[in-house]
Amino acid sequence: MVEIKTEEMVKGDSIYGQITSLGHEQLVMCYDEPTGLKAIIGIHNTVLGPALGGTRMWNYASEQEAITDVLRLSRGMTFKAAISGLNIGGGKAVIIGDPKLKNEAFLRRFGKFVQSLGGKYITAEDVNMKTSDMEYIAMETAHVTGLPEVKGGGGDPSPVTAYGAYLGMKAAAKKAYGQDSLAGKKIAVQGIGQVGRHLIDHLVKEGAEIFITDIFEDRLKEVAQKTGATVISPEDIYDVKMDIYAPCALGATVNDETLSRLNCQVIAGAANNQLKDEEIHGQALIERGIIYAPDFLINAGGLINVYAEYLGNYNRDLAYQQAEKIYDTCLAILNKSEKEGIPAQQAAIEMAWNRINSISKLKSTY
Ligand code: NAD
Repeated sequence: MVEIKTEEMVKGDSIYGQITSLGHEQLVMCYDEPTGLKAIIGIHNTVLGPALGGTRMWNYASEQEAITDVLRLSRGMTFKAAISGLNIGGGKAVIIGDPKLKNEAFLRRFGKFVQSLGGKYITAEDVNMKTSDMEYIAMETAHVTGLPEVKGGGGDPSPVTAYGAYLGMKAAAKKAYGQDSLAGKKIAVQGIGQVGRHLIDHLVKEGAEIFITDIFEDRLKEVAQKTGATVISPEDIYDVKMDIYAPCALGATVNDETLSRLNCQVIAGAANNQLKDEEIHGQALIERGIIYAPDFLINAGGLINVYAEYLGNYNRDLAYQQAEKIYDTCLAILNKSEKEGIPAQQAAIEMAWNRINSISKLKSTY
């Protein structure tokens, strides 16, 4: 299968050019005049199963920006599901506009659009969407997951995401140091939100030396008091002498500027799209001898959790069991990366495509 990645290519083409260049199956433009709803649903690949991915609401500067985002994000979901061994495809939805526009009718109308796809796309929470919003969507469609525990859902996915990121970090440590113990390792956690805090709990138990940063000082104070972690300012985090850098806040923090400052052997964290440019910075990491645990694999715990809910009879232990596979998969990717001399992110994407292609052949027979 042809893989064309750069955002430039996504931006420069006609709509069909953009869809085909990234290999999408469908792009659904939704509009509802009475509520003002404008949403775009991107269905990238459904070979492994229905396309699952959250809905993000954002005040995009242009329609093109929204299209680029939904195409990029839905493609990423395909890889995340495939590499994690889940039987679902990749999809994502974006709603264009100020999150203040949301109300019951607006969200239920979106739910009706999801329902109209007959289960080909399953939605969940993402940026600027709350559990209460999902409850309105669920009034109009059964194709929604990530509901609160009191409603029979899987609840907050962050602990499972953090557990997967922790195991991915251990696998990367094994590759870098020959053993996966994190005891005594200097680990800098950037962002102590939902995932970062749970990740730190695992690191404390292992006896790591932890450095933390965030833009909220009260959070830093609280976590430092509880865990004994050393607080670093957001601007200085890249200059800390550390063994492991764990980005758990923003995307694109591995870039030309930070790479010249980062003094670490491993990068492993939960943030999405950590490499500013997959090709350029993936290669730069190899040249600097830094082991990189691919973000879309090691932060897949959240997807694993909502997938467990989607299968029915949600059981958190099963979600954790599935997340445990991240360790072996991460090691397999890092070994492939070393053997073939290719960036870990590329090795992970190739492994994801291999699974999709082999299963598509299997499905051609009854
Ligand atoms: P969150 O919003 O709860 O936490 C992010 C934290 O980063 C916040 O405390 C925020 O103040 C901090 N932050 C923002 N800008 C910063 C900066 N410049 N420097 C330092 N800190 C900064 O989000 P989360 O749910 O913990 O997710 C963290 C990352 O992991 C995000 O990139 C998210 O997309 C990704 N992710 C989360 C999940 C999940 O289950 N929550 C799943 C997959 C991926």
